[in-house]
Amino acid sequence: MSDWSDLIPHVSPVWTHLLDKVLVRGEGPYVWDQDGRRYLDFTSGIGVVNTGHCHPRVVEAIREQAGRALHLQANIGFVHEPMLRLIGALKGVVPPELDTFFFSNSGAEAVEAAVKLARQATGRPNIIAFQRAFHGRTVGTMSLTSSKTIYRAMYQPLMAGVFFAPYAYCYRCPKMEANPERYGSNCRCDWPLEQVRFLLKSQTAPEETAAILVEPVLGEGGYVVPPAAFLRGLREICDEYGILLILDEVQSGFGRTGRFFALEHFGVVPDILVMAKGLASGLPLSGIAARRELMERWEPGSHGGTYGGNVVACAAAEATIRVLLEEGLVENAARLGEILLDRLRALQARYPGLGDVRGLGLMVGVEFVVPGGRTPDKDRAKEVQKGCRDNGLLLLTCGTEENVIRWIPPLVITEQELETALEIFEAVLDSVVQ
Ligand code: PLP
Repeated sequence: MSDWSDLIPHVSPVWTHLLDKVLVRGEGPYVWDQDGRRYLDFTSGIGVVNTGHCHPRVVEAIREQAGRALHLQANIGFVHEPMLRLIGALKGVVPPELDTFFFSNSGAEAVEAAVKLARQATGRPNIIAFQRAFHGRTVGTMSLTSSKTIYRAMYQPLMAGVFFAPYAYCYRCPKMEANPERYGSNCRCDWPLEQVRFLLKSQTAPEETAAILVEPVLGEGGYVVPPAAFLRGLREICDEYGILLILDEVQSGFGRTGRFFALEHFGVVPDILVMAKGLASGLPLSGIAARRELMERWEPGSHGGTYGGNVVACAAAEATIRVLLEEGLVENAARLGEILLDRLRALQARYPGLGDVRGLGLMVGVEFVVPGGRTPDKDRAKEVQKGCRDNGLLLLTCGTEENVIRWIPPLVITEQELETALEIFEAVLDSVVQ
């Protein structure tokens, strides 16, 4: 096999590639590096390959389509067949009200599309987003992102008209200390909703607020599952003031949380649903779904892009949806997610540095803290992540304080593969924590 190492210094350092490792192949839940070393990939390429690396049915759909056309422009008076087939498949999995679709390439582009649609359709300029949220790295989306300063520092000033409210992060809720029993999915504490209402009174009046943009499960910001009352309350606020609710399911969609979309856990239907990552199993494709009546308020020709809704990516996405549904991968995520949470909670009882274990389906976070309190312990999380990698298990961290290890394996994993990963994690905890 060729040795590419002399070319590594020519990769921009803005991509953190500290390991000098070259990945060459992926299959199912595994990836291999240039030296033939196999890793259990519990990052799914940052939540992308929900169907596993190179699922044969997705690969076949890509081959088939590549032999027919690589690119058919969707903005010159035509639409193309793979896009219509994809829409057919998507209509079976998104809430039925959201019957009209627009496609682009990346998650950030889709969030930008949602914001542009919301601004034009309402004639209002402002957006409410959340503290710790991540929506992308374009100028528009980094303005909506507050998960870490690194995404914004030295790029400011950014897009105006963005206001941040606190996310419903029960483990770090300022009201928690007074009421420790108020925690988790059933919490009805109104504090985060009061903060949104306060923003509407103090900084962005309802009649100048186009949308509330929110991740139904906080992703890069720390894998936080909010109580259902939070998302339902946001829906109510939106309905009260004619504000649009945008749900960013870029990371939580496509079976990840044990439902096709995370919104199903909360019983909330947004005005605009944003999707990417798991949509096309690794090909660059993203999209938004909204009611036709809303999409019709978007000036034709005022938004789009050369590659958005590429034919090969659409074919991959259609196959991805069929695989997720027909191979029971969403159910697998729900079932294995329960096992994963149980096992991690059992570990939490033994290791006081595991401050919080939370998640839905196979979107699970373990928050590391200094034992005896809730002080974030980034160093320990990084040490455990590294120990796992040295032992063949890839895990990512997340969170503003970078102290959360996230578990996002491909949804094709077996119980045995999950067991192997947990054994590695536990052995590393033993060596790092002792
Ligand atoms: N929205 C969420 C919730 C994400 O997690 C991400 C990426 O991690 C994005 C948007 C941006 O997606 P992309 O990196 O494809 O632009």
